[in-house]
Amino acid sequence: MVISNLKAIKGEGTFLILSNDMKSFVVIVSVLVSVCFAAPPNFIAEITDDEWAAFDQRVDRLLNGDETVGNPDEIGPYFESDIILTEAQKIEMSGLARNGVVNPMIRWPGGRLPYVLDPTVPENYTTRLQAGIDTIFDGTNGCIKIVPKEVTDRNYVYISGIEDIGCFSYIGVVGGMQFMNFPEWCMNRNASVVHEFFHALGFYHMQSDLERDDHVIINWEHIRDGAESNFYIQENTDKYDTEYDYESMMHYSKYAFSKDGNITITTKNPDMQDVIGQRVRVTDSDFAKVREMYIEAGECQR
Ligand SMILES: [Zn+2]
Repeated sequence: MVISNLKAIKGEGTFLILSNDMKSFVVIVSVLVSVCFAAPPNFIAEITDDEWAAFDQRVDRLLNGDETVGNPDEIGPYFESDIILTEAQKIEMSGLARNGVVNPMIRWPGGRLPYVLDPTVPENYTTRLQAGIDTIFDGTNGCIKIVPKEVTDRNYVYISGIEDIGCFSYIGVVGGMQFMNFPEWCMNRNASVVHEFFHALGFYHMQSDLERDDHVIINWEHIRDGAESNFYIQENTDKYDTEYDYESMMHYSKYAFSKDGNITITTKNPDMQDVIGQRVRVTDSDFAKVREMYIEAGECQR
């Protein structure tokens, strides 16, 4: 199904989102979605034209092989580049509440994460998606089951493949349908798919860890103006009995949010400088956290 053919189509089973070929709102029809929005999702509507323009430039740089732009999941216009926050989570971020990731309410009951694929996800992406899903299943001893939505599932992830709105996911269970998006350029490495699913399972980025200042130096002077909050420590997180993991596929790369091509994250262990930001494999520590959050918490005995 070609997105540009879907402009101005409205009705049952539709949602509004940005078009693939222009920064205007169009309607994408999905026979799989049973809700209808009268307006674009807030997280899309909140992005300004200037922010979209800057994002487009970063995508161009990425596609031209400019490594100083960072990983595909680090160039988006959202919170920490690829995270969509609920209103409640935004309040948590402001320090008024401290019940984020450690809150069991955001976990997928029984380790079962239902999903629906939008027609914008091309057929040839599904192999990569499934590989990521299988990787998570194997690495969690079969606890995390990412499966097609059944009629009785109320909470689920709606996966689209829109090219020019970046890759993103919510953190944990939001309630009802929640979006996840994968442009092709964001699925170019094995762990890139797993990275977004880890957000949906309830994880922030590695360098948001409470003890990150013991392991990395944030070079604030090289971070894009206004992007500093992407490097804040998330105080409502738990490290789930793991050590700080430079190799985590949830760690930003050294160039994340750089405004001038200089490194924004310096590793205190110099051997790890070119290791951070890898998106090739999922580490033992990455999986250990999920196992701890779900299996040890008894979630998979449900
Ligand atoms: Zn991310």
